[in-house]
Amino acid sequence: MKKPPQVVVIGSLNMDIVVEAKRPPLMGETVHGNQVHFIPGGKGANQAVASARLGAKTTMIGAVGADAFGTELLQALKQEGIDVEAVKTEADSHTGVASIVLSQGDNQIIVVAGANGQVTPADINTHVDKIKQSDVVLLQLEIPLETVIYAATKAKELGKTVVLNPAPARELPDELLSQVDVLIPNESELYLLAQADAKIELADAMHAMLQKGVSTVVTTLGSKGAAYLTAKGEQGLVASHRVQVVDTTGAGDSFNAGFSYALAGGAAVEEAVAFATKVAALAVTKLGAQAGMPTLAQVEEFIA
Ligand code: ATP
Repeated sequence: MKKPPQVVVIGSLNMDIVVEAKRPPLMGETVHGNQVHFIPGGKGANQAVASARLGAKTTMIGAVGADAFGTELLQALKQEGIDVEAVKTEADSHTGVASIVLSQGDNQIIVVAGANGQVTPADINTHVDKIKQSDVVLLQLEIPLETVIYAATKAKELGKTVVLNPAPARELPDELLSQVDVLIPNESELYLLAQADAKIELADAMHAMLQKGVSTVVTTLGSKGAAYLTAKGEQGLVASHRVQVVDTTGAGDSFNAGFSYALAGGAAVEEAVAFATKVAALAVTKLGAQAGMPTLAQVEEFIA
């Protein structure tokens, strides 16, 4: 039997504290809320859950604080069959938190990195064996940039495929981009990285990424789909599937995990984009980021 694809996710774990109120408070004001939800999140953990649901042997490298949220987040990942041996518990920090105020269909968010900010290059060295066993190393930008650069460089040295989801948006040094096999930004992240305004063509902004040393760039375009371009000259656009959208939180995370899973299993770029497009279409039909991630059987049954 073929061995399952192996994906290592190096990134963040957060507890999302979602408070619903009729309207957000003004500065200095107190308002009564209607509901509060505690939802496991963090781009790293969301992508790890999506990858595990698809059937990849998934390992997470990251950090939580020595608190109840940390215990809960680790438990949630373990229940998905994710290897969390390389998620350290930082005694001197707290678990990352996203505080989200939801009102009138809009939100205000404050993220406090906490232990996510304590993931260091030394942690990557400690768990280098996990990277050695993987097919794909999947990274985002919610842990220190220094660690992301170190992890990408180490993974490349070991001959692994490096996938970077450059979110949240920020400028990145060529030192990092040159180590990246597949870059998966959304449209606004792409334009920021290309240091161009939205007047330039999408294809030109994607070409700029290849010039910085990325081998393949896949730009997610929300309901419009995803465009890809490779250094070998392959390019195309895969349209999104028309689905009943319930919650787009985690759309990008499900896409990144779906792409990485397919690539780790040996798929070509176009095939991996098509697979990821199905995974993301299913994810947006369900409420919650981690809760909405589909299984492989659901993706295979999905008829677009
Ligand atoms: P988020 O920050 O909400 O996770 P994102 O900005 O990182 O999302 P998007 O480009 O919005 O990422 O979406 C990622 C992928 O999810 C798209 O390429 C598409 O395949 C799928 N997707 C997003 N929105 C829809 C939709 N309305 N219908 C179908 N598929 C969608």
